[in-house]
Amino acid sequence: MTESAPPHTPSTIAILLAGGLGTRAGFETPKQLAMLGGKPVLRWSLDAFAGHGAISGGVLVARDDVVAAVGALPDGWISALPGEERQVSVANALAALGDRPDDIIVLVHDAARPGVDGAVIDRLLGALADGAEAAIPTLPVPDTLVEQTGGTAGAVVDRSALARVQTPQAFRLGTLRRAHAAADGAPATDDAQLGRRIGAEVVAVAGDARLHKLTYADDLAILSGLLGTDVKTRTAVGMGYDVHRLVAGKPLWIGGLEIAHSHGLEGHSDADVALHALTDAILGALGDGDIGDHFPPTDAQWRGAASHRFLAFAAGRVAARGGRIEHVDLTIVAEAPKIGPHRAAIRARIADILALRVAQVSVKATTTERLGFTGRREGIAAQAVATLQLPEN
Ligand code: MG
Repeated sequence: MTESAPPHTPSTIAILLAGGLGTRAGFETPKQLAMLGGKPVLRWSLDAFAGHGAISGGVLVARDDVVAAVGALPDGWISALPGEERQVSVANALAALGDRPDDIIVLVHDAARPGVDGAVIDRLLGALADGAEAAIPTLPVPDTLVEQTGGTAGAVVDRSALARVQTPQAFRLGTLRRAHAAADGAPATDDAQLGRRIGAEVVAVAGDARLHKLTYADDLAILSGLLGTDVKTRTAVGMGYDVHRLVAGKPLWIGGLEIAHSHGLEGHSDADVALHALTDAILGALGDGDIGDHFPPTDAQWRGAASHRFLAFAAGRVAARGGRIEHVDLTIVAEAPKIGPHRAAIRARIADILALRVAQVSVKATTTERLGFTGRREGIAAQAVATLQLPEN
């Protein structure tokens, strides 16, 4: 790739951060490997940098399994391991770059923004060619902004003085090194903040709507539209049903929450009947077996396991398939305890585990009028329906 860079352009390299996406979104399958328009999310940024004539190589900061799954690295690329915090990941990449000269340009980019475009890179490199020490892409704030405390809206904030910050962010390597050395672990959500702390002038260039960040499962559909991937999808519906026995003196887990009660549910894991039904509904829509296939009760490692892991696993299978969860609907069948007071919290918890909006999650509860095993308080049942959009392929 180096031969295509004009002679007056100093070497430019990219640092691509793909370390923390999975855990942040509550997905068990790393979201940077979710399929978008026929290739993993991470591959979009990698291909965009590799295809830009001024960029001679880079450092992919990701776990070894992610590096292995994304396919061959482009020429001039190496990998480095991520840290717990974003800043540690950048520091690891800087270390991997060894003694490269301070005047080369480095672009730091979050793989959660797959829509990297050559024009944005050109604007950033242009700002540095004009003498800036650092440059970042920004977009205006289209919405009215207010101060807010709890549920009460307060004074309007002047949005004309505010901007949304994207990546990639461009620096002279020496500036980035000094910024990270001076930060000494003090937290920052991006690198430009660290640059400003050492007095570097950060120039803002026009950002790009296609640099939309992948945060929620829905963002894959938004990105698909923004990037014109035009994936044909089909609707798939799955159902799940589960029952667990109530026994005295056990903690009661329902819908990912511990609920105070005289009895708890018996089972190999935490026996969260609601999350089990939901997990099976999602696996059912995928045609991907059931919860027992993936987490056999004969396997000691699932003893007492928190069931949100099973549900996040199912959501990860959807993302890995390039699909998304449109809606889940859960009915909990219990005589006692009363589920009603916990419904809102269970709904919020499930939305959090699945990285969905609360509006995409429904939680209902019923009794069986004292009839049957649920009516006699011998057990609790749950049933669930999941609606997915899956790629046609
Ligand atoms: Mg179960």
